[in-house]
This record gives sequence, structure tokens and C-alpha cells, in this order.
Amino acid sequence: MTLTVTNTLTGEREEFVPNDPDSVLLYFCGLTVSDMAHLGHARSWVHVDVMHRWLEHLGYEVHHVENFTDVNEKIVARVGEDDLGDSERAVARHFVSEVIRDMRSLNLKRAEVYPRVTEHIPEVVDLVETLIEKGYAYESNGSVYFDVTQFEDYGKLSNQRLEEMETQGEADERSEKRHPADFALWKAGGVDPEDVAEHRHGELPDEPPSGEIWESPWSAGRPGWHIECSAMSMTHLDESIDLHVGGQDIVFPHHENEIAQSEAATGKQFARYWLHVRLLEIEGEKMSSSLQNYFTVRNAVSEFGVNPIRMFLLSTAYNRPQTYSETTLSEAVERWERLSGAYERTVEVVDSPDAGSKVEAVALRTAVSETTEAFAAAMDDDFNTREALAALLDLARAANRHLDAEGPYDYQGLESAVETFDELGGEVLGFSFGRESTGDVRLAEDVIRLILDIREHEREAGNYERADALRDELESLEITVQDTDDGPTFRL
Ligand SMILES: [Zn+2]
Repeated sequence: MTLTVTNTLTGEREEFVPNDPDSVLLYFCGLTVSDMAHLGHARSWVHVDVMHRWLEHLGYEVHHVENFTDVNEKIVARVGEDDLGDSERAVARHFVSEVIRDMRSLNLKRAEVYPRVTEHIPEVVDLVETLIEKGYAYESNGSVYFDVTQFEDYGKLSNQRLEEMETQGEADERSEKRHPADFALWKAGGVDPEDVAEHRHGELPDEPPSGEIWESPWSAGRPGWHIECSAMSMTHLDESIDLHVGGQDIVFPHHENEIAQSEAATGKQFARYWLHVRLLEIEGEKMSSSLQNYFTVRNAVSEFGVNPIRMFLLSTAYNRPQTYSETTLSEAVERWERLSGAYERTVEVVDSPDAGSKVEAVALRTAVSETTEAFAAAMDDDFNTREALAALLDLARAANRHLDAEGPYDYQGLESAVETFDELGGEVLGFSFGRESTGDVRLAEDVIRLILDIREHEREAGNYERADALRDELESLEITVQDTDDGPTFRL
């Protein structure tokens, strides 16, 4: 079986063949860090995460880069708001750490690098200089624009002809540009106060912030949005990569522009496969305040737990639109309970002292091999997580049926069911079986571990009284501590 993907660039289903047979270069267009992440962001993250995991499962080494856009008027707009920070960098830093916390709570595989624009201004300037030298870009009034008429393939990703293309950028840029669709690579000066006002949540101070500016050969100014991803992808991966992923909403202009400026600069194909995650839609027009609350990753994970949220997001394949509603979410919660319930029952029997009989249950063993095959076929079919989940739930049903039936258990068959759950559900789909971990529970566990560490230090230092007092305090909170040869363990 081979992995096939739907490539936005060609509009076709294609066999996935990376440039190097052993590794995959993957770039994901990350977040503009101007607010808390919501479930729509989580949808992209979880799907990219599963792509990463499946590619590793297929034996590839995955080099995964995901940027943070930390230069943007939306960030500038929040300077000085609610103690978020008194500079664009400070606000961005605040939200980067919040976003990373959310990513961790979703059990995402870490990218190799999370580059930021502020760290790549020299690379951006170099790239813009190359584009000017090669005749693909021009300076105008201290700003630099990409000349779309010079790049023959402009429009190839979004499937548009230049003649029919809409104007890009701000209206006031028009007089500086040769063609309405030309886009800014470098903008002279700071952010326009009108743009700041547009994104401000509250009132603007008397002197509105205008954001950070950097020196360049053309003016003191700021990089355009699109150029950052070209610079960072080339810096951290290569001039030509295998897989570029992002939300459906940034096919045009962002990805179209990334292709134009990168390929104009290097003469090489920028990315071979372009995959776009469809957006999360909200059912009906009514958006109640409680819905809004659930909508941040933080609240969703702490309310429902990471596993049901991942189950919900993976229930629809990445390239299909997904609708958020209380019904679709509670269906996912129910599916997770079915899957984890079957897992726990099976583990309990496999670990029981009676385990050992040599009975062979054909139906169970067939279900294990059928699930393994169907799961792989689904994932190879353009990362179809919906079908992959269906295969796992089939196994859950078969395991339950076996456990409910009269007669002796097939322990070996149950053991391989557990291994299949762990490998496909755990490693590939990123579920954590065996414990429900909402954000709150995880935080509590971290704090308990910290207290147990302190208690160990006290014991090592001979302060047994204080160590015992810590244990008693934990017990009074109904946290049972047990000392084992491998150190202390606890139960809530
Ligand atoms: Zn990007």
C-alpha cells in the first residue's frame, strides 16, 4: 500500500513520494500570536500531528517546522491591553507561551523548530534583495512589492488567472504598485493607526502603538506577511520541501504568494505537495456565550478532556468541512468512552492473574488483523482519520463481544488487541489510553509530582518529620502516596 494525498497544487490525488526516500520535510503555517487559540486552530494542529505520526509510522524521519507569526498589526493592536505587554514583542511572547501550553495540552508531537519572524529579519531582507536583483520585485517609496506579472505561474495554486485576480493589500498601496495584485514584501514605516484601531478590542490610547520597525536597504520598516514563511522554510528545511500544510483559508493569497516569491528566488519547486485543512464551522447562527467559552482550546480541553477533543477533531477527515455543535461534540465524547471503555476492560482481563489459557478465538483475531489492515488503508487514503477511527471502533466492538461471551478468554488475542489499540490509537492517533487527562487534571498531577519531589529531598536531607507532614497533607486531600522501589507513586 502506498500513501496518496490530495495535492491542492494539481487538484489531483497523487502518490506521496518524498524527495529523500527516508525523510519528509514538512512545513506547517502556524499561528499569528495575537489571541488565544481556538478549536479551529486545534483542528489543523491535530490533523498535522496525525500526518506527522502516520509518516513516522510508515518509517520516515519527519522534519517538522511550524512558525509563529509574531509581527502583525493584530498583535500591535493589543499592546498595552489588559497587561498583555507594552510592546509588540511582549504581547507576542505572551501569546506564544499560551499557545505552546495549549499545544502541549492537545498531546501534539513537537515540531523540530518553532521559528519566529522577529528572529529571521536578515533572512527576509536577503530574500527580498535576491528578488529585486532577479527582476521579480521593485522598490517603491521605501516599500518593496512582488511583481506578479513577472512570475509566469502566478495563480497556479489557487487556480486563478491574473486578469481575473482581485486587488491585494491596502487601498493606499495602490499608487505605489505596478499591478493591483502585486503584494508587499517590505513595508516602509510602522503599522497604520487605522489598522491598529480595526483590531483593537477596547479603546485606543491617545498615542496608538505602531509596532516594531527594522532597518533595511529600502527603509526602516516591517516585513510583509507572506515572505516570512519562504524565509523560514528555506532556513530550517530546504529550498525545496516535500509537504506544506495550512488552513484552507490561506491558499490565497498567502500560499500563492509563498510559491511565487520562493520559486522566483530559487528557480526550484518550493513544495511538492500542498495539503489544506478545511475549517471548523459552527452550526446555526446562534453562538451562545457558553459556546464561545468552549471555543478556546484551553476551555475545551479542560471541560471535555484531550481525548474526546481529539476524537471530535479526527472524526472528520482533514479535507472535509467539520461542523461544531453540542451534538457533534457529545457524539465524540460517547465514541471516546466506547473506545477507552473497551480498552480498559481488555487490559484488565489481560493483566488478571488468570491470564494464560491457550484458547484461540477466531472472531477476535480476525478483528485484530482486519482493523490493522483497514486502519492502514484509511490512513494511506489521504489521511482519512474518519475511516481509521471506524476501524478502531470495530475492534472495540469485537473485544467487547469476546469479553461478553461465555467460555474462556483468548488471552493472546486480547493482548494483541491491546497492542493494536496502543499502536494505532495511541501512537498514531495520539490518544492517551488508561487515564483521562483534562488540562486541570494534568496540572494537578504535575503539582503533586512536584510536591513528592520536594518530599524526597526532605527525606534525603534527613528531615523525616517534614516529609511525613507533606504526605499527611496530601492524604488529607485524598491523595494516597505509596513508596515503592522505583520511588513514590500516588493515587487521586
Ligand atoms: Zn505561511
